[in-house]
Amino acid sequence: MADIIKLLPDHVANQIAAGEVVQRPSSVVKELLENSIDAGAKEIKLIVKDGGKTLIQVVDNGVGMSPTDARLSFERHATSKISSADDLFNLHTKGFRGEALASIAAIAHVDLHTRTENEDVGTLLKIEGSTVVSQEVTATAKGTSIAVKNLFFNIPARRNFLKSDQVELRHIIDEFQRIALVHPDVAFQLFNNGSEYFNLPTENFRQRIVHIFGNKTKERLVPVTEETEVVKISGFICKPQFAKKSRGEQFFFANDRFIKSPYLHHAVVSAFEGLLKNDTYPGYFLKMEVNPRSIDINIHPTKTEVKFDDEHTLYATLRAAVKHSLGQFHVAPVLDFERDANLDTPYSFKNRDAHMPTVTVDANFNPFSNEKSSGSSRAPVGKTNVQGWQELYDVEGNEDSFSQLQMESDATNPEIFESTDEQVESKQISFQLQRKYIVSTVKSGLLVIDQNRAHQRILYERFLTDITVEKGVTQQLLFPVELDFGRKEMGILKELVPNLTRLGFDIAFSDNAKVVINGIPVSMPEHSITTVLDAILASHLEGQGKEHFTHAEWLARTMGKKLAITNGQVLSVESQSALVNDLFACKEPKLSPDQKTIYVIVGVNEIENKF
Ligand code: ADP
Ligand code: MG
Repeated sequence: MADIIKLLPDHVANQIAAGEVVQRPSSVVKELLENSIDAGAKEIKLIVKDGGKTLIQVVDNGVGMSPTDARLSFERHATSKISSADDLFNLHTKGFRGEALASIAAIAHVDLHTRTENEDVGTLLKIEGSTVVSQEVTATAKGTSIAVKNLFFNIPARRNFLKSDQVELRHIIDEFQRIALVHPDVAFQLFNNGSEYFNLPTENFRQRIVHIFGNKTKERLVPVTEETEVVKISGFICKPQFAKKSRGEQFFFANDRFIKSPYLHHAVVSAFEGLLKNDTYPGYFLKMEVNPRSIDINIHPTKTEVKFDDEHTLYATLRAAVKHSLGQFHVAPVLDFERDANLDTPYSFKNRDAHMPTVTVDANFNPFSNEKSSGSSRAPVGKTNVQGWQELYDVEGNEDSFSQLQMESDATNPEIFESTDEQVESKQISFQLQRKYIVSTVKSGLLVIDQNRAHQRILYERFLTDITVEKGVTQQLLFPVELDFGRKEMGILKELVPNLTRLGFDIAFSDNAKVVINGIPVSMPEHSITTVLDAILASHLEGQGKEHFTHAEWLARTMGKKLAITNGQVLSVESQSALVNDLFACKEPKLSPDQKTIYVIVGVNEIENKF
């Protein structure tokens, strides 16, 4: 048979890479701005036309490029930022893959003007779809200007897929803000269709936040600082009363790079516990500095997802730091804007306001211990009601264990409903509708809960706490279960062992390539071992590249999904009431881990209107 394998021509390879790097105009903006920062620019101008579809231009006053470098910068894997694999683990720059410019040039018309400090004339390079059209000498300012025109001109399908100019501009502004926020020492400008959207001078972090989010932000910010051997945290949180219904002002930066982390988000939100109205999200602008060697930013092409070596410690430290600031904020409400307040601790106790409600701060809180001390804010769903959970799988509930459960889980969150007189009464009669909904009454009407989603939420929060804060309890199996898995699956399981152990699994690997399960989380029925592990492996295989998920969160979610009571399952009255109580002891009882509505209240008015 003739040979059939061919090497892809470079321009095809570049177009494929472009699919990963460039999703929309804002991806180009991100790459260009990051290159300018890496080039040491102190002034950066971003000019866009028609939401970036017609033009995206970034002009900087950074180091510029020599004529050869200018040409090379568009080659794939051309980078000045790493020269050995070892450099990868000690990154101080934003870029390192050397594929951004090559990818962008593959799908657009690019004009590059650049000049280094010690050259009198600069270079003008024109590229169209990976083809160099011209290279000439030109007079230009020191620094680099890259204009990207007609994005996706040669991939109509991608171009048609773009949203309206307004939507694309919104994405561009998001990227711009993420970068501008964490580089307040760089001046930025943004123009769209000739009008100026932002003009940010060099300033400090606090001023930059206020510049971007408006003067009203000024009084809302509370500084957060913490330094441990693992991480240096600095930045601001917004006072709880300004928490918003919509998300959008939540920013984490790891080593000056914007990151998304639902796991660390959870840490911050849990520190606000009890201070937020239902369905509101606190604003925050938090910078974390960790040893570059302890962080892996290589796992996602658009690099907003990172992997930290020591997530658990980071979680606990962050939560403690935010709690600490919230505690201090109540004794010193007003801060001086002019000072760069993020570096010192500008609080004094002399301004104590006698009328302010106090927040209990656990002075003994040690983020590194297992948080057993009193006053810790572990979710009220404690280990003690484990028995109750087993009962949920068992329709023939045992009266005794449930009365005990009710007493222990009556720490019902008083903020579930708008006013406290509308709390769910735990002794309330409830019934099941179509073996799917639990119907009960609250003062304001009828409460209808989706049983499966409710249980997913409860288990999810519980497992997340087990993984992150306090190790889950293990039930040792009388007869260890041996399972066979493929090599790939074994590899994944080995990687997951630390988190699985924290969930309560006791897993060993035998010499003959088998997985031996000696113990499982106490809230998990023994017969579900294979289903749960299969689900974890399957979702790991498909969910790896997805944004937004850390290992911990994703594991908790998968376990919750697999173990939650299903629709169609009959629940005893006791199980129903345990489910209701535990749901409202959750931090977010309204939404399932997949952001679906868990319960609705049919108001008395609504009912009256029907008569
Ligand atoms: P990476 O940033 O991963 O190195 P890029 O494709 O984004 O890869 O850029 C390739 C190279 O081009 C960079 O390593 C850098 O040397 C050079 N370069 C890109 N943009 C600029 C700029 N604005 N100023 C100076 N050099 C630049
Ligand atoms: Mg780059």
